[in-house]
Amino acid sequence: MTQTDAPPGLQTPLRFVKGVGPQRASQLERKGLRTVEDALFVVPLRHEDRTRLTPFRALVPGQAATCSGVIVGVSPPPPGRARVPFTVMLRDQSGYATASWFGWRYLARVLKRGQRLVLHGRVGRYKGAMVIQQPDYEIVESGEDERLHTGRLVPVYSLTEGLPQRALRTLMWRLVDACGAEVQEVLPEGVRARRSLVGLAQAVRDAHFPETDAALAAARRRLTFDEGLLLQLGLAILRSRVSRARGLAMNPRGDLVARLRAGLPWKLTGAQERVWEEIRRDMAAPYPMHRLLQGDVGSGKTVVAALAVLTAIEAGHQAAVMAPTEILAEQHFMTFRQLLEPLGVRVTLLASSLKPRERAARRATVAAGEIACVVGTHALVQEGVEFRRLGLVVVDEQHRFGVEQRARLRGKGEHADLLVMTATPIPRTLALTIYGDLDVSILDELPPGRRPIVTVARAEAKRREIYKFLKAEVAAGRQIYVVYPLVEESEALDLKAATDMARHLGEEVFPDLTVGLLHGRLGFEEKDAIMQRFKAGEIHVLVSTTVIEVGIDVPNASVMLVEHAERFGLSQLHQLRGRVGRGEWRSYCILLTAGHLGEEAQRRIDAMTATNDGFRIAEVDLELRGPGEFFGTRQSGLPEFRAADLLRDTSLLEDARREASGIVARDPELADPAHRALRAALLARWRGKLALATAG
Ligand code: ADP
Ligand code: MG
Repeated sequence: MTQTDAPPGLQTPLRFVKGVGPQRASQLERKGLRTVEDALFVVPLRHEDRTRLTPFRALVPGQAATCSGVIVGVSPPPPGRARVPFTVMLRDQSGYATASWFGWRYLARVLKRGQRLVLHGRVGRYKGAMVIQQPDYEIVESGEDERLHTGRLVPVYSLTEGLPQRALRTLMWRLVDACGAEVQEVLPEGVRARRSLVGLAQAVRDAHFPETDAALAAARRRLTFDEGLLLQLGLAILRSRVSRARGLAMNPRGDLVARLRAGLPWKLTGAQERVWEEIRRDMAAPYPMHRLLQGDVGSGKTVVAALAVLTAIEAGHQAAVMAPTEILAEQHFMTFRQLLEPLGVRVTLLASSLKPRERAARRATVAAGEIACVVGTHALVQEGVEFRRLGLVVVDEQHRFGVEQRARLRGKGEHADLLVMTATPIPRTLALTIYGDLDVSILDELPPGRRPIVTVARAEAKRREIYKFLKAEVAAGRQIYVVYPLVEESEALDLKAATDMARHLGEEVFPDLTVGLLHGRLGFEEKDAIMQRFKAGEIHVLVSTTVIEVGIDVPNASVMLVEHAERFGLSQLHQLRGRVGRGEWRSYCILLTAGHLGEEAQRRIDAMTATNDGFRIAEVDLELRGPGEFFGTRQSGLPEFRAADLLRDTSLLEDARREASGIVARDPELADPAHRALRAALLARWRGKLALATAG
């Protein structure tokens, strides 16, 4: 197909836009930009103020500056001198400056005397002279071009390989110019006035090419609000559907619950009692429960979930317990079996590691309703396991599940109740944003008598001392976890494999102790046997890959030694640490690190040694990884944030949430003609994941 000269519209594919060839179109597509509209709603990374270029004479070492000058000399590094930077000498009206780049050899082909550059970078001193180091640069041609790339607030976009900044900016300029005015307003007038927001077409224009800082700020505010609103609207619609749906009223006498409680060696904490009451009430009510149970590692979520499971079962229904991985599912299976089987409740595991015949047999018993409690991974939903009377679904470690999967779950069984558990404590406003389709219960109290875990970071040189300490702990009756990031030696990474290490520890370091090895490739029976032996105290030192990340519960274990701690994520480290400190003994988490740590790894380790507070850990994790990765929004099915910053824009996002609730309360499926544009925007943003009732 060829390009036409007809003016493009919002839905025109970019490859049909004049000046966009097939190669450029595919580069744009790699950035997720297919249509003109996609491109218009891209948010620049930042803007450079090129109205106020810093004259070379006014450059200050240590500060970042934007400046412009003509190249008067080019000095490539001499051949073979990789440590010498590539430098160019520039002149402006005030004087001269040097710009330098390391490792940018191709610059020699690009930068020529006589070109005018705009530079943005940090100023340093080198041998007494002022040097702009490693700047972003653009070659500016004189003429019309200058209006766009200089002398104004200039947008800087994130780039894909092969897509030059100037080309992208020029394209954006043309698109905004040709189609910016076509962007339709989506907000109801009342909302726009109440929140003092600029119009959408204006916001789109100013987000790219603002005349002033104030215009830019207003544009960002508007786009942020819209993102928040569209997210919250979708969530509010999901929520309102749940509360309007007919659900199961499961309100049995509570004999099973009473028997489980009577058999526990301790009383529930106040927080557990409160949360259990919230769940019990939800289950008893004739609409579907849709609740998030949030609690730090070790806060005792499992027993609360077990109470809910027993309630569903006593009411004559089945319960499904799901975890994101096979290993976690196996661990839950062990725990639930221990809690429920003494009460005569049958529990089964549906794992993909089972032989097909065994699996089919178990599925049949589930479908026949002979098994009350089924544990598995979310494959339980995807593979269409049939239940006879599914009443409750418990999902653990929710942040790896998505809105979409939750919706699909709810579609299972007839209006089954849903309880989602997560050990990722997140600030409340964020919880409302990300888990906006769920009610939230929080376990904010640890069982009594827990002592804070002592966490230390140690380098390889301390290994012998650490071993001595471990021996002393075992001599005092305790048990030890040693965790490795990998199962087998990888050729690229200099990691000691858990297998080798277990042998080494067992034969050479602790010849008098029993060392066990647990890794992901073992079958369920083998893993179970090893865990049972560890629980029984027969194994003193349990060497493991991260399979024990979540769910293992051996109160007698007092030391968690993490090898190559720098390779683990922060929440993973916190989970691992949560395996100890479950008994009455002082417990330790030793983070063994190898070699020089990168900045992020260092911050993770520092956070671990600074605090035991999962809430604080989660905040640091969020800062380090950014919301997208932290919440896994990509896989969660939620619309992504482009303009909004979940950490910075919380109050604006709260406003958006309030408006969304108001709109949905009056018009649950956005059927009102006044909401037509909003509805279209909503459907587009959720990309089909939010089937709205068709308008009447
Ligand atoms: P979570 O899943 O929230 O990380 P668990 O459910 O595994 O925590 O519970 C952690 C440990 O605390 C387990 O050993 C559990 O038996 C114990 N526990 C739970 N609730 C209480 C309580 N109220 N009092 C004492 N110990 C408790
Ligand atoms: Mg748990």
